[in-house]
Amino acid sequence: MIKNLNICPYPLIENARNSSVLVKDIHFNQNTINIIAGPCAVESEEMIHEIAAYLKQRGISLLRGGAYKPSTSPYGFQGLGKIALNWLKDIKKIYGLGIATEILDVNHLDHLLECADLLQVGTRNMSNYELLKELGKCNKPILLKRGMSARVEEWLLAAEYIIKEGNDQIIFCERGIRTFETYTRNTLDLNAIPLMKELTSFPIIVDPSHGTGKRSLVAPMSLAALAAGADGLLIEIHPNPDQALKDGRQSLNLTEFDTLIEDLKKFSHFANKKFNESLAS
Ligand code: PEP
Ligand code: MN
Repeated sequence: MIKNLNICPYPLIENARNSSVLVKDIHFNQNTINIIAGPCAVESEEMIHEIAAYLKQRGISLLRGGAYKPSTSPYGFQGLGKIALNWLKDIKKIYGLGIATEILDVNHLDHLLECADLLQVGTRNMSNYELLKELGKCNKPILLKRGMSARVEEWLLAAEYIIKEGNDQIIFCERGIRTFETYTRNTLDLNAIPLMKELTSFPIIVDPSHGTGKRSLVAPMSLAALAAGADGLLIEIHPNPDQALKDGRQSLNLTEFDTLIEDLKKFSHFANKKFNESLAS
């Protein structure tokens, strides 16, 4: 609650200026569009190599793959854990890609730090304040997804928790919120992009995969996100989405992703931003 209107509830976020976040050797800032892509979950060694080789050849430098997955149902797939992280470590060495992966539990932090270049805090953990405090003590960029029912102020306060402990390497990610609508998995709140840009100087990217839950909507909402000023996209892809262990319905196959990248490149011209260099060429 704001008691005194002259005091901003998130002073560290508010006072940060021209924030640029470095993930491995990739800059996230307001002049660049970065694409992070990969499967919802790392399912096997073969599939993650196939995706890594594809991304490398496509000029996309950041792979996101889940080793620890939150699942609404206790019977749902929850990731392969340490073995998946070992494969991701190999991917880093072999293909030179940066790795983004989700942290669910503070007890996993040490071994995640050995592999990840970007730690994702998922929608369910945006308000896990003890986790946020620990992430504030580590020297690793954080991808802070918006809680599915979080207001923008609550999202900013979650980031304030991290910064307060010393880590100001934060990229926000709009991933849709729950509304009364049931035809889509979530309602992608594109208002949040220009709004966050008014309120903060931190980079903000959009996840149209969870934001819609429907493969056919991912491309139009990716373009819409860039039009709204997003600094990047997080997109779920899979060599065979119909066989995916998680989130297949919202994952693009590699051909669909290729088409999207070409469309995004054309559009970046209007967004007045440049694609990350390796992708632009
Ligand atoms: C994910 O990125 O696969 C994921 C679980 O995202 P969210 O936390 O936004 O649901
Ligand atoms: Mn997913």
